[in-house]
Amino acid sequence: MPLRSDWSERTCSLARGLDILGDPWGSLVLREVFFGNGRFDAIKTRLQIADNVLSKRLTWLVEAGLLAQRPYLDGARTRQEYVLTPKGEDALPVLNAIIIWSEKHLDAPTDNAHMRVIHNRCGLPTASADTCSHCGSRLTAANTSWHSLTRSEHPLALATAPATRDLPNESEPSA
Ligand SMILES: [Zn+2]
Repeated sequence: MPLRSDWSERTCSLARGLDILGDPWGSLVLREVFFGNGRFDAIKTRLQIADNVLSKRLTWLVEAGLLAQRPYLDGARTRQEYVLTPKGEDALPVLNAIIIWSEKHLDAPTDNAHMRVIHNRCGLPTASADTCSHCGSRLTAANTSWHSLTRSEHPLALATAPATRDLPNESEPSA
């Protein structure tokens, strides 16, 4: 269910990639899941997004193979939360690049409206999206934190894709 005209058949790989990653709400949903915030109500609260807008992005990110659903118990009821797939986890350098570019070129509306990409071992913000600009290590969700100054005082370690054996078989997305 594409959100707009379908760019998935474009000859340019940038256009095909933007078909998935060029939607602001979709990429903000990915941000939340990287922050470990994969439950419908929690994403909705954080993004201040309408139910139908969020449902559509979640369904679409599952269909595109970037997110998977994982059941959890909410009292007596089983509900679904959203987790990264390896394909979704691979989008990290793209999101890192947008964060770093924005920090470099866009004005922040308030003094603390900043976000840094941190290589955990160095503990320093990196100026490069896919490798740590201090030590040269390749950045992965497992060794990277995001420090959103409005969100927390400390950098938050990112979620990684769970092993496939921990996920149920294909299921229909739901809230
Ligand atoms: Zn480093």
